[in-house]
Amino acid sequence: MKVAVFSTKSYDRKFLEAANRRHGHDMVFFEPHLTDETTALASGFEALCVFVNDKLTSDVLKSLKEQGTKLVALRCAGFNNVDLIAASELGMTVVRVPAYSPEAVAEHTAALILSVNRKLHRAYSRVREGNFSLEGLLGFNLHNKTVGIIGTGQIGFAFAKIVTGFGCRVLAHDPYPNPECESIGVVYTEPASLFEESDIISLHCPLTPETRHFIDSEAIKKMKTGVMLVNTSRGAVIDTKAVIHALKSGKIGALAIDVYEEEGDLFFEDLSNEVIQDDVFARLLTFPNVLITGHQAFFTQEALQSIAETTLSNFTVYEQGGPCVNIITADRIKV
Ligand code: NAD
Repeated sequence: MKVAVFSTKSYDRKFLEAANRRHGHDMVFFEPHLTDETTALASGFEALCVFVNDKLTSDVLKSLKEQGTKLVALRCAGFNNVDLIAASELGMTVVRVPAYSPEAVAEHTAALILSVNRKLHRAYSRVREGNFSLEGLLGFNLHNKTVGIIGTGQIGFAFAKIVTGFGCRVLAHDPYPNPECESIGVVYTEPASLFEESDIISLHCPLTPETRHFIDSEAIKKMKTGVMLVNTSRGAVIDTKAVIHALKSGKIGALAIDVYEEEGDLFFEDLSNEVIQDDVFARLLTFPNVLITGHQAFFTQEALQSIAETTLSNFTVYEQGGPCVNIITADRIKV
């Protein structure tokens, strides 16, 4: 198939080209995000390959349809950036990579928790400057703490196994409890009691209309003072302004995030010579107890290999007219 690949970075190209030796698709790589200003690049391509910050709004999809696009392949698990209802009305097929390496994201979540708790981000800089003072680096044991997990699908389950290994008590909330989680001792509860009882709250649900700003000022009010909040799901699951307010008051004791509501204008680019225009993000950067990574939780060799292989298989199956198990439809946004 002739495929236009958007938001291409060197690593995407490397892993997609390696996997394509087994598939033989005709891929053309574009660096820009797919937006209403760049849809013309996709003209004449039957298939597109897009990533988390490509915006497939109803208008973008209509333009793509007029240009001949039939298939949109997300090279990620999340699908909040695609108007699935519009895609369905236009008769366009949308596929994704539902599971490439849940462990990659779960392990990064654990890395964020350990780092922000034991202040590794601060200790690293101090030691390099010859400052061996321990003032301000006090952490807490994870052992015997309560971890609350919102969303216990593949990543939430992988994360539950890790924190169970640390000796944590694990609570969870998910409209569809996962029996595998229950089998390792995870206890399902309603959000209110999860908020009240958890020392660490980690988000692993998709971004949907129901989960947008799931962590808002009302939810934060119910949490323990000094709670650690961790988000490796999608930025808009938390209301960042409410979280900043709670960081200032001390209600939230630590924040570790790999995703941010307005990350589309920031993440995946080297902006080190530019002035950050997003004042909310800039404020987050000022807190000593906030650790931010730029949407890198998925970024392991195993995950990139798996993403590339599944994405290209999705094209191959579609081209051969076979049933693709990775199709994502409008009813999924109500998950
Ligand atoms: P999954 O579909 O296996 O699991 C998601 C779980 O969330 C499901 O069990 C679902 O029932 C639950 N859920 C849905 N609505 C909920 C709600 N209102 N409250 C609580 N739980 C709810 O997905 P996954 O593979 O575990 O991925 C989860 C999310 O992680 C993805 O949607 C994506 O946004 C994010 N993600 C981030 C990265 C990264 O690099 N930071 C990488 C992959 C995925």
